[in-house]
Amino acid sequence: MIRVRFAPSPTGMFHVGGARTALFNWALAQQAGGRFVLRIEDTDATRNRPEWTEGILSALAWIGISEESPVFEGPFFQSAFEPQHREAVAKLLADGKAYYCDCTRERLQERTGSEHKGYDGFCRDRGLTEGAVRFRTPDEGVTVVDDLIRGRVEFPNDAQEDFVIARSDGSPLYVLANAVDDITQGITHVVRGEEHLGNAQRQELLWPALGANPPVWAHLPVIVNEQRKKLSKRRDKVALESYREEGYLAEAMVNYLMLLGWGPGEDREIMPWSEMMPLFKLESVNSASAFFDEKKLRAFNGEYIRALSPDEFVKRVEPWLDADWDRATFAKVAELAQTRVAVLSEISANVDFLFLDEPFFDQASWDKAMKGPAAEILSGYLARLETAEMDPESLKTALEEVGAEHGLKLGKAQAPVRVAITGRTVGLPLFESIEVLGRERSTARLRAALERLQG
Ligand code: GLU
Repeated sequence: MIRVRFAPSPTGMFHVGGARTALFNWALAQQAGGRFVLRIEDTDATRNRPEWTEGILSALAWIGISEESPVFEGPFFQSAFEPQHREAVAKLLADGKAYYCDCTRERLQERTGSEHKGYDGFCRDRGLTEGAVRFRTPDEGVTVVDDLIRGRVEFPNDAQEDFVIARSDGSPLYVLANAVDDITQGITHVVRGEEHLGNAQRQELLWPALGANPPVWAHLPVIVNEQRKKLSKRRDKVALESYREEGYLAEAMVNYLMLLGWGPGEDREIMPWSEMMPLFKLESVNSASAFFDEKKLRAFNGEYIRALSPDEFVKRVEPWLDADWDRATFAKVAELAQTRVAVLSEISANVDFLFLDEPFFDQASWDKAMKGPAAEILSGYLARLETAEMDPESLKTALEEVGAEHGLKLGKAQAPVRVAITGRTVGLPLFESIEVLGRERSTARLRAALERLQG
């Protein structure tokens, strides 16, 4: 049975890269009837905070990685396994695969010169009984990490020093804890970000020393921004939560994240999880860096929003509506709005004019629309609106007539009216908007815009 794990450290907001790693692992576990182990690597007590752990759990649930699923195991906390980590260190010492070392950095430098980077093996055969614990690495040959995505990666052993696996106070180091936990949890495939490839050499050495066969390795390509720089929390919007708050749908996010380094082929991109999951293969993950294209993600999201049933759209968009907006009025424009928002938070700019006493005037829109014969258009349309039939077709004919009097096509004649009614140059279809707003409020807005224009 395939057993994968996702092993985040709770040291910050949950990152879109972490979400991709989690999803790739989730796909593997689901398709093979395997298990997905969630292990929170919380051993760095100075950087961990419980709210980051909460954030990981809620983010995973949001993208469909559910603790309720029979595929899911955990969450486990690495800190709880410290006794096993200490036991493993003791065993490596007893087997002569590790040794105590009391060299300080200064003494090492005195011996080897400050240029020398690695540890020189001085304590290997001194038979000390306390100190830090170092793992005895081979002096010659290469360590091979056979990576499903990157191929055969060779690390020359003479460049790998005898590395520390426990501090002199006995506390085990991360690289050891990670290997011990993977072994104890029966992990068959380690699928994680490329930044951990450097650890894989040491882990590849530790696994057999601890009596286990190394796992299948797969290091996922880095995710880069538009400037081809690795996504970073200082520079880029990387927190999954910020996408959720902006009104990205989980299913669009999941779909997009799956394409960061992989694709279902045949030029297909928009595909629901249920179809994508069985197609996923580690062997077809690309080793080249993956571009996180926010524009493309937005376009995906717009497609997913348009594909919702009208009822489902109303349900999903509800958290972005002001509490005091009349829902019956909103229902009249919901379907029109559904086709116009790429992220749910854009709903407000599309429909707020219906609920405000006067529209919020976007200055750029105002300046663009309120020029030329704008005042004449507004007053001409105002006069017709007093008596026009309030259906979109009649409302449109009326504006066409006013435009014609000033030699303007409908498109041009619409601009000042739209800004007067909604406050913006773009938005819901104008005549439907006027119909829903009603005669009284619409005429009042045309009057107010005229005053503003002339005053
Ligand atoms: N805890 C590590 C991280 O959050 C993951 C290490 C691993 O997957 O082996 O980056």
